[in-house]
Amino acid sequence: MSKHIAFIGLGNMGGPMAANLVKAGHQVKAFDLSQPACQVAREHGVEVAVSVAEATEGAGTVISMLPASKHVESLYLSEDGVLALLAADALVIDCSTIAPASAQKVAQVARTKGIHMIDAPVSGGTAGAAAATLTFIVGGPVESLELARPALQAMGKNIFHMGDAGAGQVAKLCNNMALAVIMGVTAEAISLGVAHGLDPKVLSQMMAVSTGRSWATEICNPWPDVLESAPASRGYSCGFGNDLMLKDLGLAVEAAIGSHATIPLGELARNLYAMNRNQGRGGLDFSSVVKLFLKQD
Ligand code: NAD
Repeated sequence: MSKHIAFIGLGNMGGPMAANLVKAGHQVKAFDLSQPACQVAREHGVEVAVSVAEATEGAGTVISMLPASKHVESLYLSEDGVLALLAADALVIDCSTIAPASAQKVAQVARTKGIHMIDAPVSGGTAGAAAATLTFIVGGPVESLELARPALQAMGKNIFHMGDAGAGQVAKLCNNMALAVIMGVTAEAISLGVAHGLDPKVLSQMMAVSTGRSWATEICNPWPDVLESAPASRGYSCGFGNDLMLKDLGLAVEAAIGSHATIPLGELARNLYAMNRNQGRGGLDFSSVVKLFLKQD
């Protein structure tokens, strides 16, 4: 019998991803520090352990979906961390978005212990996590990716191998930097139209079939009640948090400094999402950045 999958981090993304593994017939033991997150996962048929140690004991695969680099490094590299607990031929799939250097650091330790590891950050948002249509953006050895493929296919639709350890994270940062800029300018454009008396819904419908078309006009429109399924139409809740986007833009800026790349729009976007956080919207979906452009009468 194949060994179980330990799933660590049952938040907005990890919860539905773990549920999809169960639906696809994988045996999953999960853990999250947050009791409400554990409860939601249980309601979706996921077995929840009381600790990381209980979830990972005897696991063949560990999947993590945590907020940032420090959480991932602590999970895997601390004295009683997961890499110290796993058997030599185990597989680690980290789906969190973290610094490429952190991913390389964890992968390096895994390699010395004979543990397979890939960085596999995702794109597709909470809707993609729920529908098992995520895109996995992978860094690490091809043979480790092949071991991971059945689990990835249970949670997503597209898998891209970008290169060695950390390359998945670099590619993910490139994607999110583009998304941040596009969301910012879409919010700005719709606000300009509304300031001139245009209907935001008709303006968005026009843009969605014109050259201003993007994920921000079609799927995650920042203006409330333009798209029923967008976070903007539910008070900017349960989406991709502003602070997570801000984190990703900080990582993109760090990566640019390290490689002497120039990212003027990415740096501007980092400041926009920092302003949005400083106005109290750090926990809301990042499309709430539109509020920066509303006219105060
Ligand atoms: P989230 O904050 O909803 O979930 C993170 C979960 O990790 C929380 O439930 C938290 O309690 C848990 N956690 C933290 N430390 C832990 C530990 N040591 N052990 C167990 N659980 C722990 O975040 P999310 O939206 O699910 O995002 C997770 C990652 O995915 C982030 O890196 C984010 O950048 C990335 N991501 C998010 C989205 C999105 O749309 N939300 C899209 C793509 C990528």
